[in-house]
Amino acid sequence: MKILVPVKRVVDANVKVRVKADGSAVELANVKMAMNPFDEIAVEEAIRLKEAGKAEEIIVVSIGPQQAQETLRTALAMGADRAILVKTDEQTEPLGVAKVLKGVVEAEQPGLVILGKQAIDDDSNQTGQMLAALLGWAQGTFASKVVLDGDKAKVTREVDGGLQTVELKMPAIVTADLRLNQPRYASLPNIMKAKKKQLDEKTPADYGADVKPRLKVIKTEEPGGRKAGVKVKSVAELVDKLKNEAGVL
Ligand code: AMP
Repeated sequence: MKILVPVKRVVDANVKVRVKADGSAVELANVKMAMNPFDEIAVEEAIRLKEAGKAEEIIVVSIGPQQAQETLRTALAMGADRAILVKTDEQTEPLGVAKVLKGVVEAEQPGLVILGKQAIDDDSNQTGQMLAALLGWAQGTFASKVVLDGDKAKVTREVDGGLQTVELKMPAIVTADLRLNQPRYASLPNIMKAKKKQLDEKTPADYGADVKPRLKVIKTEEPGGRKAGVKVKSVAELVDKLKNEAGVL
């Protein structure tokens, strides 16, 4: 069985994000970029399934600019077997990405697609669900555990009330939550090897999809700073403030 893992190039999670002076978008010039953290978890899960003998090949795919090849090479260095770069300079959105991924699935015929639950730049949390709908496949979202058994996948999901386990008929879509696993670091020799690997270069049109934006960003704002705290002199004053100022009692 093949496992397909879509990986997105996003602003590094450790970078303090700044909004462009004109408020049109987040500043990306000279900012460190990295693999979306949930996608690292998805790659790790695919590798563990392969190591457990449940999969033969892991294909990673990224829809993005030429530089997204760095993200793909990180995944190759972690242990993915093959990488596809679907090149576009458009700002990608979930529906366009899901349409490209549908084409990749039809060409590669994986038994499982593991995506991140959400990209930390657009926070959409939509691509996996849209892909499942376009393919008519079962989906296990927010996975914290994945167990494959023949043509079934048991996925434990993180839901508000606790953990829910669902059984999916394969082929299926899984989206990775934070507690699914702890991704490994790529070793230096593997990073060097990944640099030399040939990537498949494609375009959205090769998969019969277009990724033209359907949304228009009207405004981007930095979150407001936290207000300074105040010291109260007595419990009575605290209760009064909670009741009459904060309105939480
Ligand atoms: P989103 O729906 O944008 O929050 O993204 C959810 C997941 O879809 C990500 O964690 C990735 O696995 C995948 N994804 C989204 N955009 C892309 C992209 N441009 N290239 C590859 N994978 C993507």
